[in-house]
Amino acid sequence: MTAARGTTVVAVDGPAGSGKSSVSKAVAKVLDFDYLDTGAAYRALAWLCLENGVDTLDASDVIEALDTFDYSIGIDPEHYFVRVASDTITEAIREPRISAVVSAIARVPEVRSHLVDLFRRIIASSRKAGIIVEGRDITTVVAPDARVRILLTASAEVRMGRRSAEISGVSAETTARQLASRDAQDSRVVDFMNAADGVITVDSTDLDFDQTVSAVVELVRAAPGGNQT
Ligand code: C5P
Repeated sequence: MTAARGTTVVAVDGPAGSGKSSVSKAVAKVLDFDYLDTGAAYRALAWLCLENGVDTLDASDVIEALDTFDYSIGIDPEHYFVRVASDTITEAIREPRISAVVSAIARVPEVRSHLVDLFRRIIASSRKAGIIVEGRDITTVVAPDARVRILLTASAEVRMGRRSAEISGVSAETTARQLASRDAQDSRVVDFMNAADGVITVDSTDLDFDQTVSAVVELVRAAPGGNQT
């Protein structure tokens, strides 16, 4: 891993609704680490495509959009933002219209390799004691030699319940259908349902938010050479 010398990289993968974003951000705050949400970059690229009328099913058009993808993200968990050029799209990238097309973009190999490079540069730029990086392929592709590698899971029922509580104005049934369809599409590209060798599974099905945060914090503290604060 190309993180700055001594920076503890914590890789967290998991399916939609596993709570990995909110848990990772909270863990970063507890440990005074940076926090990198990788899904935001795929969402921001999807936003740019929709903004410019790019057909998200046309891989060559999506690859072309990468040329004008002027992306920035806040990695301080207290100052999270997502920007494309001068547009702040922190909330806009959560809209259902983005979730509906993001998987099509994420399956384009050129998009993945471009973003993996970008994530590695961002990780290397961290000047904190550690950085929590969350997504789908962090433990396996982006940072396979991270000091701590975690797969955060929860039963499908619990994940759907959590996600529908987050989204207002959409029925629980619709949310469940969209989430299942996105997971199905995404898991054809990256296996984030099964832990790779050396990856620790944290199943949050029977844990509340604080218990899940504590479980991850303990794993980081217990890791050889990990942050002991
Ligand atoms: O994590 P989030 O739900 O915001 O991710 C949005 C989408 O970005 C996922 O559905 C997936 O298609 C893609 N993604 C990915 N690899 C990552 C992170 C996200 O393919 N590391």
